[in-house]
Amino acid sequence: MTISNENKLTFECETGNYHTFCPISCVSWLYQKIEDSFFLVIGTKTCGYFLQNAMGVMIFAEPRYAMAELQEGDISAQLNDYEELKRLCLQIKKDRSPSVIFWIGTCTTEIIKMDLEGIAPKLEADIDIPIIVARANGLDYAFTQGEDTVLAAMAQRCPDNKNYPSKNAIEPTTDAIHPPLVLFGSLPDAVVQQLTYELSKQGITVQGWLPSTRYTELPFINEQYYVAGVNPFLSRTATTLMRRRKTKLIGAPFPIGPDGTRAWIEKICSVFNITPTKLDERESEVWSSLENYLELVRGKSVFFMGDNLLEISLARFLIRCGMTVYEIGIPYMDKRYQGAELLLLEKTCREMNVPIPKIIEKPDNYNQLDRIRDLQPDLVITGMAHANPLEARGINTKWSVEFTFAPIHGFSNAKDILELVTRPLRRNLNLNEVSSEMYSSRY
Ligand code: SF4
Repeated sequence: MTISNENKLTFECETGNYHTFCPISCVSWLYQKIEDSFFLVIGTKTCGYFLQNAMGVMIFAEPRYAMAELQEGDISAQLNDYEELKRLCLQIKKDRSPSVIFWIGTCTTEIIKMDLEGIAPKLEADIDIPIIVARANGLDYAFTQGEDTVLAAMAQRCPDNKNYPSKNAIEPTTDAIHPPLVLFGSLPDAVVQQLTYELSKQGITVQGWLPSTRYTELPFINEQYYVAGVNPFLSRTATTLMRRRKTKLIGAPFPIGPDGTRAWIEKICSVFNITPTKLDERESEVWSSLENYLELVRGKSVFFMGDNLLEISLARFLIRCGMTVYEIGIPYMDKRYQGAELLLLEKTCREMNVPIPKIIEKPDNYNQLDRIRDLQPDLVITGMAHANPLEARGINTKWSVEFTFAPIHGFSNAKDILELVTRPLRRNLNLNEVSSEMYSSRY
């Protein structure tokens, strides 16, 4: 039985035998977010096949990413890594003239110990274009953690008062009534504007976002600045901002769902000694607009197999919507970075009077399928590998990757989360109607 009988959160760790996307997939959303970037994935055909398939139709739109495919000669060190990479980067510079090139390290570059961090500064000086190295490989990380490695590397390049590497960097404004605040996490521009606006209604000015829309517009980050994350998978970025850039992290629940968004804004306000206004009204307005969806999910059960690190925040929101969560699988759990979110999860379970789900780090998909068979949840949130086989066995599924690409942050996007969660439930209602019309009522 998965649900914990204890009255507090319990954590378990399984074998790590689970399906998830390789973290190099982060290039697919980061190249779109950072408009003047180019991503070079240094790996093998395996990595290329994955990207080509996972990115679907995007690969026909001349994406600003490419594979540097390692050959036998690279692996046995018969070719010169520096010269090979220089040749490729000069070609990229000529064809696309980006403001920055990201080198994405893969499993192979790790195993053959290719010194990307050592080569990059020399080449950067040689060809006069910034090169940022991120080791987003499948040996160490899962899916969204790829973005974390890229942002942690970018955090080192943000300008500060002592050092102005970027001519066009946005200088800090001085008229705010609180210390400067920088938010980190890659979100679509519309969502960035929504969250910035929500904070501005409380009198909070956002100094900048990491990443910004253009590399040349990275925000200033000085010592003692405050930073807050918008996504639960950014723990390395948070650590880099605290340790290397000496900023102060605001540890808040994440702005996913109206409850999370409110808690996120409240926490930022409390750090700046600002009393939030009209948040209560704003949150209840959103909840009442969701009523049609809530009717569908109330009293239903859900099982997270775990593959993208958004699981804790989504589970907490779904519990607030009236669902019971049987199990929260998650690839990696940073209890410090997600501390405030875990407390909110516990509090939400108590307030909604539902059992507290067990959190299974590094889950084992085989064991999970056994548990799913026993528990028969109303919905399983899972990857594509298990979705159709489970559907064929009469279990509703929602493909987890969609939560990563859909806009799910802030007050107004709570609807999108429920739209995704209820889609399989609504589809099955429709199918029942169709079948009853065709078979039961007529014959
Ligand atoms: S897991 Fe490793 S080899 Fe596979 S696609 Fe990712 S980086 Fe490439």
